[in-house]
Amino acid sequence: MTLQPIFSVVHTTPPYYFGIDVGGTGMKIGLVDDEGRTLGFNSIATEEARGPADAMRRVAECSTALLRSLDIELKSIVRVGLGTPGSQDIPRGMLIEPPNHPHWHHFPIVKCLEDAIGIPVSFANDANAAAFGEFWVGTGKIYNSMALLTLGTGVGGGIIIDNQLVVGQNSFGGECGHMIIDPRPDARLCVWGGGRGHLEAYASASAVAQRAAEELQAGAISSLSPDMDKLTTRRIYEAAVKGDAFSLKIIEETADYLALGIATLVHTLDPGLVVLGGAMNFGGKNSPVGMRFLARIEHTFRDRSFEYVANGTKIDFASLGGDAGYLGAAGVARMDFKKLQAT
Ligand SMILES: [Zn+2]
Repeated sequence: MTLQPIFSVVHTTPPYYFGIDVGGTGMKIGLVDDEGRTLGFNSIATEEARGPADAMRRVAECSTALLRSLDIELKSIVRVGLGTPGSQDIPRGMLIEPPNHPHWHHFPIVKCLEDAIGIPVSFANDANAAAFGEFWVGTGKIYNSMALLTLGTGVGGGIIIDNQLVVGQNSFGGECGHMIIDPRPDARLCVWGGGRGHLEAYASASAVAQRAAEELQAGAISSLSPDMDKLTTRRIYEAAVKGDAFSLKIIEETADYLALGIATLVHTLDPGLVVLGGAMNFGGKNSPVGMRFLARIEHTFRDRSFEYVANGTKIDFASLGGDAGYLGAAGVARMDFKKLQAT
């Protein structure tokens, strides 16, 4: 159990919220104040095979331990936000069939956590929660609308329009990674679900490594090894830093694919801000390669968009890293709490 008290409780703004981010291997639990500051943080193993009831019991125990260590009473916590991977039924508080959680299918997780912790629970998709975190206290904090694309094994997403998180009719809102950017019948296959021609099939970290491996095996000249086991976007980034032209080309093509998806997002929803999160950022803002990646996305996006809306759209990197999920879950709980207070 790790504990990171970040702000002294004396300087925080009540009420408080728990934000919980359930991942495939770990669960993050943050105690967050009304301004989005983290008072304390814990992380515990998911232990997927032990099932969701066991996991929620441990989350509740861990949350109570966190409160004890900070000398905060349970009654100061007005609501809990829970983010889990989809598929899910948000209004009913149900997990449906999350692919990385085979022992958690068709489970009433919200009721289970409410019973274990004794506080009302708000429910969100994990990527939507991360988007809400960036919106509340990260890159999007001065905006009223925002879209997040998370570039990892897959491409996740979340959308906030006019301060409202887009959940959708089937709790599937914001799944930007499955936008179709290639209509050909032999277009590349998605990482999850096997959809063809989706953004994720071209611009996720696994797809980028796969695209590079295919070109290397076909004879492309590069300092990279064509061995797929050794090929990661981290290595592609490192080779690009050293001037490997092939790696830079792969990164720029990835930027072009992302720009197509972003143009569609912007023409549909006009979020004003598109944030790039996830592990694959090619060094991000701190690296010339990362800035070249971002500049190429902006260039191609402008080239494929209406000038008027492109002029009013910013594209930028995320700023909260792995904290976005629990912060956003707490933010969703806070939003629900404020709405209930207003009625
Ligand atoms: Zn897909």
